[in-house]
Amino acid sequence: MTQYQYDLHTHSTASDGALSPTELVARAAQQGVTHLALTDHDGTEGIEEARQAAAAKGIELIPGVEISVSWSGGTVHIVGLQLDITNPALQQGLSGLRDYRRQRARQIANKLEKAGIPGALEGAARYASETMLGRVHFARFLVDNGHATDMKDVFKRFLVKNKPGYVSGQWASLEDALGWIHAAGGQAVVAHPARYKMTNSKRRRLLREFSSLGGAGIEVSSGNQHPEEVRVMAKLAQEFELLASCGSDFHSPDHAWIELGRMVTMPPFVTPIWTQWH
Ligand code: AMP
Ligand code: MN
Ligand code: MN
Ligand code: MN
Repeated sequence: MTQYQYDLHTHSTASDGALSPTELVARAAQQGVTHLALTDHDGTEGIEEARQAAAAKGIELIPGVEISVSWSGGTVHIVGLQLDITNPALQQGLSGLRDYRRQRARQIANKLEKAGIPGALEGAARYASETMLGRVHFARFLVDNGHATDMKDVFKRFLVKNKPGYVSGQWASLEDALGWIHAAGGQAVVAHPARYKMTNSKRRRLLREFSSLGGAGIEVSSGNQHPEEVRVMAKLAQEFELLASCGSDFHSPDHAWIELGRMVTMPPFVTPIWTQWH
């Protein structure tokens, strides 16, 4: 019997990942992943290359995206899976988000300049693809120029609330994000639901709203997650009658604690999202 292994949340150089789509697919295949979703932030530019690489390696590539959403005063991430990436509504929506990213990048750079760090916009852009500029690119610039020791340090001291370089994001609405995913024939999944700093009652409100908008699932198992937390997320999936997804959220081989395809196994009482695919 063939053993399938799913990783339904990953990043490439088309957003803030360190590996090109081809390198990512090769690493996934090496790790035994049989079904890989490429889910770059707010764009699908890496999908075509990943599709070709996956065909060559004999693994299945699921076209995906991770959409930045502003909800109830904070940012949440919604993954779209099994997308028709040629859909105009999806691409228009994503293109608007990337425009906003450029605007936000200028604001971040201005704030850093006021904090005594000039040249951050050009600096960050050197680490980014042409399409998507994000906080990770600023982080690399800040680390490489000696303003912080590593990724963890830089996200503690610069790019978060009440620190220099913080800009509160103005992303898509939950309704729009799900609308684009559904227009493209895809399924919407709440990314890493345990990671948001929100009360449990707020998390439930998010899932209720997500569900009522036709959302399909939540990531029950995410990279580097504690087994107990996975259980709690599985219970939530069960309670809200949502399908269960799992994804490493792999960004880079440098983060040794997160590897492609390596996640805590989901409890048997959830319904994996891929049961609807085969
Ligand atoms: P952005 O969408 O541009 O605001 O950037 C969000 C991305 O920054 C996430 O997807 C992560 O890749 C990265 N990130 C956010 N917080 C942290 C953190 N504390 N440590 C490392 N990376 C982080
Ligand atoms: Mn990221
Ligand atoms: Mn995310
Ligand atoms: Mn992600």
